Amino acid sequence: MKILVTGGLGYIGSHAVVELLNENYDVVVIDDLSNSSRDIVDKIKEITGKDIVFYENDVRDEAVLEEIFTKHKIDAVMHFAGYKAVGESVQKPILYYENNLGSTLSLCKKMLEHECYKFIFSSSATVYGDPERLPLTEDCRVGGTTNPYGTSKLMIERILSDIHIANPKFTPVILRYFNPIGAHKTGLIGEKPNGIPNNLMPYIVRVASGELEILSIFGNDYDTKDGTGVRDYIHVVDLAKGHLSALKKAMNDEGIFYYNLGTGTGYSVLEMVQNFEKVNGVKVPYKMVDRRPGDIASCYSDASKAYEELGWKAELGLEDMMRDSYNFILKQNEK
Ligand code: NAD
Ligand code: UDP
Repeated sequence: MKILVTGGLGYIGSHAVVELLNENYDVVVIDDLSNSSRDIVDKIKEITGKDIVFYENDVRDEAVLEEIFTKHKIDAVMHFAGYKAVGESVQKPILYYENNLGSTLSLCKKMLEHECYKFIFSSSATVYGDPERLPLTEDCRVGGTTNPYGTSKLMIERILSDIHIANPKFTPVILRYFNPIGAHKTGLIGEKPNGIPNNLMPYIVRVASGELEILSIFGNDYDTKDGTGVRDYIHVVDLAKGHLSALKKAMNDEGIFYYNLGTGTGYSVLEMVQNFEKVNGVKVPYKMVDRRPGDIASCYSDASKAYEELGWKAELGLEDMMRDSYNFILKQNEK
């Protein structure tokens, strides 16, 4: 079976490609390298011993999509390509809507033209806005997103639903990720943000490795166990495996499906720092600062629907996430 993976050299996409190759799928990747690099192709080969077909192109380039769908008999698409920096999306909304919506529209158009109907989409827990209740189930209210990035995910979910209504064979599996962290255990692939990281884990590892001085904890007066924000962190390898389970569902069923991909457990920022220090035996100096605008107190999943319907659940724990995140950055810094 042949799978087209857009954004397949990025953080989550590259881990999904590894899992696909491990399960003997044929993989075609399209990635414009706007937030990744070509050497990931070699890293994927080093991990799996297998090759992918790689197109260095923008997903919005319909001539290239035409070539891909004509040349390869694509059975299903996993769509990871898109821009994801929340802060940047506030500064550059047109860029974000153009890329995130445009890439999805071009892709779906070409899929329908080529009678390819199975679509796995990278959505986000951000579509729930300020959670209606916790833990979040898939039927919780969506909306109230506070930035163009989040709104683009919400709009895409709606677009996919409209396409499904008009073309019932078109089967989107919408995966709402909670907070992916960690890296492949080889340390060969992982998350490499440009510049100063915005997310918690990439910031912690850089403080631990001495590249940044001190972690700012955004708020200690939330209504949570210790006053700091609570999130549902999930190992990226577990997340990647969730895509394979979603793919099997899409291949065997018709419809539109929504799944939370999380662990179901929330950890506070302070718990994350303490766990990181314990697992890796390093200090992470921190200071308490004001809340970050737009942040919510707590966000964690009820992950039972994915288990019941896909047979998938997260297997790796916080210790694996801490160890693998740090191992990746140490390996990067060895070079
Ligand atoms: P990433 O930036 O590491 O990967 C995205 C990849 O897509 C990059 O390799 C980039 O070069 C490529 N890309 C972007 N626009 C493209 C285009 N028009 N054509 C071709 N390639 C393009 O991001 P990630 O963390 O791996 O996220 C993957 C997907 O998951 C994104 O859609 C993101 O919004 C979503 N998501 C991520 C998180 C997270 O915390 N990382 C959480 C929820 C959802
Ligand atoms: N956070 C923090 N300092 C940082 C980055 C994040 O205290 O430098 C907190 C943030 O306020 C939130 C949690 O860590 O409570 C996770 O933040 P992240 O940006 O990683 O994910 P998101 O808020 O998008 O779920």
